[in-house]
Amino acid sequence: MRYDLAVVGAGILGLAHALAALRRGLSVVVIDREAEANGASVRNFGFVTVTGQQQGDCWRRAMRSRDVWAEVAPKAGIPIEHQGLLVIAQRPEAMTCLEAFARTDMGHGCRVLTAAQTTAEHGAILSGSPVQGALWSPHDRRVESRFAIPKLAAWLQGQGVTFLRKTLVKAVEPGRVLTTAGVIEAGRVAVCPGDDLLTLYAEVIARLNISRCRLHMMKVMPAQPFKLPGSIMSDQSLLRYLGYSELPEAGPIIARLQREQPRTLAEGIHLIVVQGADGGLIVGDSHHYEYSPSPFQRDEVDALILEEMHQVLHLPGAQVTERWSGTYATAPDRLMTREVIDEVTRLVIVTSGTGASTSFAIGEETIEDLFGRA
Ligand SMILES: Cc1cc2nc3c(=O)[nH]c(=O)nc-3n(C[C@H](O)[C@H](O)[C@H](O)COP(=O)(O)OP(=O)(O)OC[C@H]3O[C@@H](n4cnc5c(N)ncnc54)[C@H](O)[C@@H]3O)c2cc1C
Repeated sequence: MRYDLAVVGAGILGLAHALAALRRGLSVVVIDREAEANGASVRNFGFVTVTGQQQGDCWRRAMRSRDVWAEVAPKAGIPIEHQGLLVIAQRPEAMTCLEAFARTDMGHGCRVLTAAQTTAEHGAILSGSPVQGALWSPHDRRVESRFAIPKLAAWLQGQGVTFLRKTLVKAVEPGRVLTTAGVIEAGRVAVCPGDDLLTLYAEVIARLNISRCRLHMMKVMPAQPFKLPGSIMSDQSLLRYLGYSELPEAGPIIARLQREQPRTLAEGIHLIVVQGADGGLIVGDSHHYEYSPSPFQRDEVDALILEEMHQVLHLPGAQVTERWSGTYATAPDRLMTREVIDEVTRLVIVTSGTGASTSFAIGEETIEDLFGRA
């Protein structure tokens, strides 16, 4: 059989390309070397982050992808675990930055909460450490990735997408995909290899200076009833998320964190906490930029993440029940890339920690690029 589209990679980006093609009535095959998804797409927070993404393309893609998640999740039986984000300001400088953010176009629909409002509305989850206020955004969503990605793939399969698992793609020629299971013919090919930097188009990937980022993640079980109103971030996120850090008003909070938390920042740590249906919290993360990710996970990094968690949230007796690390592709000068390999082949890589948030929009753009406007 000859397919209209072959997709290499069954992470969120590959599945997003398959979905966009399916919606146009195209025949699709998705090929992945693993038996089941085990890359970045299932190791992440499942945090579909809109608020704080870089102004422009990234924010627009996140908004669009958020809407696609809303359409597809119910059909695929994927619960939306959170609707909204609470960024808690611990320092006055953070509050100034959040207030400035709320005044931008990206702040539309967001609410700035005073210290009193924050305590009144969210006091039950807060540690009791002083807060200056908060930003509530209704735009962000969260899915439980370890279940959501397999469910999305199963739903796509039910809709007619063919999946070839445990199949390595060795090479791609115009209209032909050479795999360990033989040659697959396809009119167009989208290669979405995540952070595999060597198997396909190694020269292109090297020219773009793409490397890897490794992150520490934990699952934490609260010891007593605890319910988050949405995803949680704190002051440190204002430094890492470009939608905040590129604002002129971010300067003072960045400078203060650099003075007060040099060890934390050296480990690339900022706090994200999200919650799943079993009450468990996914807590992270750190950022270590390493072409060959270290297999050794230093406990002091986890301790710094947990310290910030306890600084912000009231979680006495909470226990870490799982630890893992994940890696994603990273580039010095771009958040994603779509390379034209030839007339019918595209190499698409999210080169930042934004793939759960932006992939559906990126997939739609690639399909339009390969097949023309619908
Ligand atoms: C710990 C962690 C936390 C994160 N948190 C967030 C978050 O909160 N929000 C957010 O938006 N993003 C987040 N990200 C980033 C996001 O997870 C990634 O950007 C996204 O998952 C990348 O998806 P992908 O499909 O490109 O890659 P992957 O999920 O890595 O999938 C690539 C697939 O391609 C397959 N493959 C590669 N080469 C071949 C080949 N030659 N033949 C066959 N198969 C091949 C692999 O087996 C793999 O299954 C996080 C990432 C990590 C690691």
